[in-house]
Amino acid sequence: MAEHKKLNTASGRPYYENENSMTAGARGPVLLQDVFLHEKMAHFNRERIPERVVHAKGSGAFGTFTVTNDISKYTRAKLFNTIGKQTRVLLRFSTVGGEKGSADTERDPRGFALKFYTEDGNWDLVGNNTPVFFIKDPKKFGDFIHTQKRDPRSNCKSPTMMWDYWSLNPESLHQVLILMSDRGTPYSYRHLNGYGSHTFSLINAANERVWVKFHFKTQQGIKNFTDNEASRMKGMDADWAQRDLVEAIDRQEFPKWALKIQVMTDEQAKTFRWNPFDLTKVWPHSEFPLIDVGTLELNEVPRNYFAEVEQSAFAPAHVVDGVGYSPDKMLQGRLLSYPDAHRYRLGANYEQIPVNRCPFAVHNYQRDGAMRVDGNGGSDPNYWPNSFDDIQVDPAYKEPAQVLESTLADWYDRNGAGDNDHYSQPGALFDKVMNDEDRAHTINNIVGAMKGISGPKRIDIINRQLCHFFRASVPLGLGVAQGLGVEITPEVMQHAG
Ligand code: NDP
Repeated sequence: MAEHKKLNTASGRPYYENENSMTAGARGPVLLQDVFLHEKMAHFNRERIPERVVHAKGSGAFGTFTVTNDISKYTRAKLFNTIGKQTRVLLRFSTVGGEKGSADTERDPRGFALKFYTEDGNWDLVGNNTPVFFIKDPKKFGDFIHTQKRDPRSNCKSPTMMWDYWSLNPESLHQVLILMSDRGTPYSYRHLNGYGSHTFSLINAANERVWVKFHFKTQQGIKNFTDNEASRMKGMDADWAQRDLVEAIDRQEFPKWALKIQVMTDEQAKTFRWNPFDLTKVWPHSEFPLIDVGTLELNEVPRNYFAEVEQSAFAPAHVVDGVGYSPDKMLQGRLLSYPDAHRYRLGANYEQIPVNRCPFAVHNYQRDGAMRVDGNGGSDPNYWPNSFDDIQVDPAYKEPAQVLESTLADWYDRNGAGDNDHYSQPGALFDKVMNDEDRAHTINNIVGAMKGISGPKRIDIINRQLCHFFRASVPLGLGVAQGLGVEITPEVMQHAG
């Protein structure tokens, strides 16, 4: 007869009683020496780790990235070096503002965080389902996110805080408009595009740099909920997108995305009509056409959500040779804040957790720290240089030097060409890209959201935001004003410019 597995304490002692505590007599009291009872209760009390401050509610899946086109003239990154080459990936989708138990169908951007397990280390491309963001300077991030979370007094989400902040920060308009379109309530994680959002760089074998933007186009087609459908789904199934992803993969309907890039040379960047590193703007496709790169497929549900999704840690700082950063201020801020957040949430050794660990050999001299469970370098030297191991730095991996525009340190406000134009691109999106139905839904969604603005500053906030809408597109401004019952006087039109 096959031997059963034995129930053990955490220290491995086979145990004999898992349901009844040891008591003095049948009616108790419970004896202090029932240490398995203590172990069960104490471990349970410690099951939660801090949830992510943003992107707390998420879903993940493993998959494969396959190269379909040769981009070696732009990058020497090994994962792109051969057509047909496959790299294992982990993709984590998320909402942004809600807590871990919040609904998947909230109006919110969706996180699109990808980890490529490459032979040159893990490359994390940590983007969203939108190509732009609400702000262009990381100093604003904490303030902005506070407005998306709970009001300090009511502990409720507050449309007043949101629209107050957005109306005082017109650079948010582009992202606000996308958020307020039906793309703010995607049908599922399978039916949205992913964007690296920031400008990054690619470096080729000749050590030449170009600037790049990454786009993942869904092969399932864009599909969105209307505002009503999303609200209804909140009540019916808060975990709709999680369930959809798992069930699709279980049915072997593996979701796919086409990876495409836009490329800009340094010369083009210098003379471009606005700052190409500004995260609130896109590069027009007509000037920087999409170049095919490869296909991403999700085909494996993680076996354990906590181990492989909750403990997954993505950081834009994690790039590989052939891919680099850019001067995008938001990216620069995230280079610090993401690893910092993971050190707080998971500990200094978060990159040793199996889902985050590079599956290829890693050599360095970082040792010790809480929860070091990977052997800690064994008896190898823990300092460098040393006379004992043969670990070398390799100059072939050096990036080209970068010429800086200025060495004058200052707190630059927007003063570059086009930097104050927060209106042309949202205007183009509303007037030229959206169809009649998109426009009608967007206006309806904005009106519904702005109706929640309350308190003594209500009129000021509404008028300020209306001016931004008018500056982007007169039909947009008029539509929202009419929906809110605001009378548009010639003075208002004049003020809106
Ligand atoms: P294009 O007509 O070449 O591209 C328009 C893009 O807009 C497509 O990628 C389309 O995505 C996307 N799109 C359509 N509806 C929405 C929506 N409601 N919210 C967000 N994106 C949407 O135009 P341009 O490149 O000249 O850009 C015009 C405007 O399109 C931009 O100002 C920007 O607002 C938006 N846009 C541009 C992107 C870019 O990288 N150039 C990327 C995304 C949006 P899809 O093909 O998947 O339907």
